[in-house]
Amino acid sequence: MIVNVCFHGIGVSRREREPGEARYWMAQDVFLRVLDEAADRPHVRLSFDDGNRSDVDIALPALRERGLTATFFALAGRLDDPASLSPADLAELRSAGMSIGSHGWEHVPWRGLSDTAARREFVDARRALAQASGATITEAAFPLGRYDRSTLRRLKSAGYRTVYSSDRFPARPGSWLQARYSVSSTDDVESVRRVMAGRPGAHEARNVAASMVKRLR
Ligand SMILES: [Zn+2]
Repeated sequence: MIVNVCFHGIGVSRREREPGEARYWMAQDVFLRVLDEAADRPHVRLSFDDGNRSDVDIALPALRERGLTATFFALAGRLDDPASLSPADLAELRSAGMSIGSHGWEHVPWRGLSDTAARREFVDARRALAQASGATITEAAFPLGRYDRSTLRRLKSAGYRTVYSSDRFPARPGSWLQARYSVSSTDDVESVRRVMAGRPGAHEARNVAASMVKRLR
């Protein structure tokens, strides 16, 4: 069993690009203590969505200090945005042993995309991020956690090796679709520790059922 834990931004969100974004940022001191907990748990895998600068400014040095690695799901459409990861930042993450994945181009939900938009999100974004980082991109994380059967079919035919939701239950190693737990500003070390313990409860059972519905709808 794996517990995938997903972060968005660390510290203070200076400029919300989308309403409600700050709700997913975690205070730096809480984040550092959460990483200490993760360092003792080899079944915990870490990822960072949205490509905020705090990924290199705060997360990267903290991960290195603890000998941890993570996957960074960046946005191709924000490579020129000063608050986001630049091509040089992506290359730095990669040379530090981190993985780069795709979070798409625009940060739009991947349900109901036109064929043109789907090509931009799944193919063009991957190419741009691969060029920017010098890495091969094989993994994707759904923006806003949204997906359906057609999203999964498109990602599969685009050749992604693993895709990540935000469905909040433990994942099976090697599974193509991996659920993750997104942390938010209201989490503390105790609440993340409970998640990392990976003991599925009633919530998880409901989340597994909800994921089944999304895969089939
Ligand atoms: Zn996102």
